[in-house]
Amino acid sequence: MALQLEVSLATEKKEKPDFNKLGFGQIFTDHMFVMDYSEGKGWHDPRIVPYAPLTLDPAAMVFHYGQSVFEGLKAYRTRENNILLFRPDKNMHRMNVSNERIDMPQIDEAFVLEALRELIKIDQDWIPSAPGTSLYIRPFMIATEPYLGVRPSHSYKLVIILSPVGAYYAGGMKPVKIHVESKYVRAVRGGTGNAKTAGNYAASLKAQSEAKVLGYEQVLWLDGVEGKYIEEVGAMNVFFKVKGEIWTPALNGSILDGVTRNSVLQLLRDWGLPVHEKRISMEELQQAHANGELEEAFGTGTAAVISPIGELNWNQHQMFINGQEVGELTMKLYDTLTGIQYGEVEDKFGWTV
Ligand code: PMP
Repeated sequence: MALQLEVSLATEKKEKPDFNKLGFGQIFTDHMFVMDYSEGKGWHDPRIVPYAPLTLDPAAMVFHYGQSVFEGLKAYRTRENNILLFRPDKNMHRMNVSNERIDMPQIDEAFVLEALRELIKIDQDWIPSAPGTSLYIRPFMIATEPYLGVRPSHSYKLVIILSPVGAYYAGGMKPVKIHVESKYVRAVRGGTGNAKTAGNYAASLKAQSEAKVLGYEQVLWLDGVEGKYIEEVGAMNVFFKVKGEIWTPALNGSILDGVTRNSVLQLLRDWGLPVHEKRISMEELQQAHANGELEEAFGTGTAAVISPIGELNWNQHQMFINGQEVGELTMKLYDTLTGIQYGEVEDKFGWTV
């Protein structure tokens, strides 16, 4: 049976915040999308309803065994007042990759994307227009069955909430200081690193806090088996420019397949630059730095788009990159990607919707 989206609009709208003072992820719009899954029945009751707290049984399995996945993408308001989404099909698909990994049911990607578009249309007044601002979109899915046995839940809820967010680089783009993490790992071979599941983020918090105390903004994650190979930076994928060539860790099951990573790779190849998706050891990177060959380093992700790295600290090695300035390629990628996202650079790949 085809799913039928029901809409019930809020009778009272919330007061809009000061769109000039938006931070990240603290303000939510008037509506949300909800859909339920029950074993035997499948997905049912897709609906757009007023934004409100969820009521869950304290025994709901998500609270105990962590069956929970999420996604993150943005809607952008263009100068012509159009609303664009950037490759949303990729996020819908990745949600299913995550669902598969933690034994949760698949969603109908096209249907959920359509429901998301409806939700954004309804709450479009919440999309800010100042440069760099956007509407952050958070789809998530949780196990709702009240049961304390360890097995996959028989019921789930898919929810999408929307949050207007300020410009990530409101104070200008500034290269960050990174602590190369040798004690904690984020993911291991055969684990859940390539799924966007809540537990991965829980596992990352302690390292993040300890790095902050030491004066670093993020950690660089190494592989969980040998502790030698570079995986990701914070909640971003990572790239290096070495002697004019671009390196990024190859997807190996413990690295998230970032939408920004994929887009950066396509752009670099389109620009004719030599790109290598490969296993990169910290030792190899340090050697490149020692030889004066490490020219730029940056993280990629939806929130920041491109985040330049100015300093890497690995055991005794303190590596400054590009004089702690934003690199030329880093800047060009940022300008091109954000240009496409805001409809100001030709979208030759057909990425925006
Ligand atoms: N790695 C991790 C662990 C992340 O959480 C994210 C953010 N989703 C990324 C990489 C970047 O992915 P994307 O470019 O799709 O935002």
